[in-house]
Amino acid sequence: MRSSCPVCRGGSSRLLEPAEPPHRVLHCPACDVAFVDPFPDRAALQRRYGPGYYAAWISRQKSRRARMWDARLRFLEGVAGRGRLLDVGCGDGAFLEQARRRGWEVAGTEISSWAAAHAAATLGRAVFCGELREAAYPEAHFDAVTLWHVLEHVTEPLSLLEEVRRILKPRGVLIVAVPNRNDRVMQAAYRLVKRRRPKLFSLRDREPHLFHFSAASLTRLVALAGFAVAWIGPDSGIVEPSKRLVNGAAVVLSRLLHRFWWNAILLIARKA
Ligand SMILES: [Zn+2]
Repeated sequence: MRSSCPVCRGGSSRLLEPAEPPHRVLHCPACDVAFVDPFPDRAALQRRYGPGYYAAWISRQKSRRARMWDARLRFLEGVAGRGRLLDVGCGDGAFLEQARRRGWEVAGTEISSWAAAHAAATLGRAVFCGELREAAYPEAHFDAVTLWHVLEHVTEPLSLLEEVRRILKPRGVLIVAVPNRNDRVMQAAYRLVKRRRPKLFSLRDREPHLFHFSAASLTRLVALAGFAVAWIGPDSGIVEPSKRLVNGAAVVLSRLLHRFWWNAILLIARKA
């Protein structure tokens, strides 16, 4: 049993939701993060990210994903201009390849050996396979570091962001996107269709997320790692049309009711 919160080290985490034994989902009232306890072992997680995980990305979703990456790049360039970019958890490398074509100098890390090899073939250059810290990039090296739906998968999000801070230039930009634990509109749509609540963690039923962030807990985490949040809002990088529709409704309702109910969160930060 975990005695302290892996983000803020607070010690009063409470049960949020039972899961398949021995796992359960805990919530830290101090920083609002929810997390799986105990974490599944690294080998079990790595097995999830073989060719099957990426099959749709490189086939039926390919053109929609290309449009998503294009929109994200234009967004990033509006904030950071162009320069040296690192994508942590770069998956199949499609984002970096589009960035490279637009004039970025690109680098990527990826924990899945299958995806790292695929990305390297796409980019025509090596992609580091392993944890970010193991890549040992020089200090103050990158103009922008992106984590597109990566933080919810890692076991040490705080130390990962601290390493990002070390390798970012003084005015460098961090961009993080994660699913939103308070995706109330999506949860309502799920219950309507499936007649049950979506589970926060299940190795059988869904992609395993080790952390579940809210706008508050993501802001807290990024601040703890030494960043100042410049902007937080909805992440619109959704490729499935039905989910896009639900997210559109969530964005409108959130704006009207002053809530943070979007499907996913996008955050921009700079070194504090
Ligand atoms: Zn906490």
